[in-house]
Amino acid sequence: MNEILKKSAAEQSKALKNKEISAVELTNAAFERIAELDEKLGAFNSLTKETALETAKKVDEKIAKSEELPLLAGVPLALKDNMNLVGSKTTASSKILENFVSPFNATVTEKLLNNLVPIVGKANLDEFAMGSSNENSAFKKVHNPWDLKKVPGGSSGGSAASVSSCEATLALGSDTGGSIRLPASFCGIVGMKPTYGRVSRYGLIAFASSLDQIGPFARTVEDAANLLEVISGHDPKDSTSLDLPVEHYAAHLNDDIKGMKVGVIKELMTEGLSDDVAAAMQRAIEDYKKLGAEIVEISLPNLKHSIGIYYILATAECSSNLARFDGVKYGYRTPDAKNLMEMYTKTRAEGFGPEVKRRIMLGTYALSSGYYDAYYKKAQQMRALVTQDFVEAFKKVDILISPTCPNTAFELGAKSSDPLAMYLTDIATISANLAGIPGMSVPAGFDKDGMPIGLQILAPQLKESRLFNAAHKFERANDYYLQLAKI
Ligand code: GLN
Repeated sequence: MNEILKKSAAEQSKALKNKEISAVELTNAAFERIAELDEKLGAFNSLTKETALETAKKVDEKIAKSEELPLLAGVPLALKDNMNLVGSKTTASSKILENFVSPFNATVTEKLLNNLVPIVGKANLDEFAMGSSNENSAFKKVHNPWDLKKVPGGSSGGSAASVSSCEATLALGSDTGGSIRLPASFCGIVGMKPTYGRVSRYGLIAFASSLDQIGPFARTVEDAANLLEVISGHDPKDSTSLDLPVEHYAAHLNDDIKGMKVGVIKELMTEGLSDDVAAAMQRAIEDYKKLGAEIVEISLPNLKHSIGIYYILATAECSSNLARFDGVKYGYRTPDAKNLMEMYTKTRAEGFGPEVKRRIMLGTYALSSGYYDAYYKKAQQMRALVTQDFVEAFKKVDILISPTCPNTAFELGAKSSDPLAMYLTDIATISANLAGIPGMSVPAGFDKDGMPIGLQILAPQLKESRLFNAAHKFERANDYYLQLAKI
């Protein structure tokens, strides 16, 4: 592998400006790495070589004319395959969209292209972003770069694996219940879910619209902060996007955190925690103390309900969002239907995988008359209580910390026949989506088998700068982020 691929985006940007390498060379180096590795890894559903090289050429033209480069120009990026890029297939890793070609760009894609970020390919995911291990892709499983027998986490497993293995320097994922933070933690990189509404969802294939949010993957907190800056902002095409100015998040990375109040989430420090993750948490707490932070224990009494709430709301929303895949407007249509009704039912029966069908059925049930009040309405009420827990907590502390997951990456196949065990993987991440607050996972050490452990940091709504600051200080107090998967 070309050594430049191991560098951070900040370092690659510098190398481009200093003409140590051209953007076309850097992009080609990424494609060579993908060619050498991706058969084993399965991180990409498709490559977008033409678009990427076209963008890289524009960067080189600017450099030749000594023009100023936009943030992250020329740095190779993987786009999760549920975001539209004109001319590329956007499959959501589903058979029902296997041959669907994007007719328009997602807003995040537009922003990346405006900043001349070469998009090298579409990253594999769990079908329609439903899953925690990336085993639910209709096409192929993604393998964890640290141990190919293990899962990379999901649903943005391809995005995380590509950055962790240096196939790409950056990636975008979407996070509905933890799909950025969990794979970041399992793959030993940084993954961040912004405040709900900070990033436009236009052009993202909807899973659960009140929870979905697009966010960055990177190998350093600084790179993630810069990528968030590039993709954030108000978008009239997404009515839930916030009309607030975009901040320069990297400006506060080095602010002193002396006196910062760091809350440790009590409920996530006990049950089911592996010994290695527990030890990593103790080390993280000590690191924050050394940085001058004050550690406070915080209880979130309703957190235990978050998985139950999520699996009613997310499935209800997905049953409605996925109604559009009916064989008429886009994607797959069954070849042999005798009438319209049969065309709908066969198309959906043949096009959706088992987990997606399970979610549609659960959601349809929760929304059906007679059950709506008992399930959907109750879950909405409970969601308000979870949100209120965070409001109370953030009156006492500036940020909250917990493990991103009680355990490290598990073996492929270990949980795929037990949906409930799989759902429980998200115990630490889901509540941030219910409350709409920003959260991230930062590398926090390794277990006895050398698998990465993630520290989750949460902040109040729109306090992304504080989150990046606290994460950067922790990152630089250790050298975990410098260790790369040996693959
Ligand atoms: N693992 C969770 C699920 O399967 C979260 C997925 C996500 O964040 N997209 O729903």
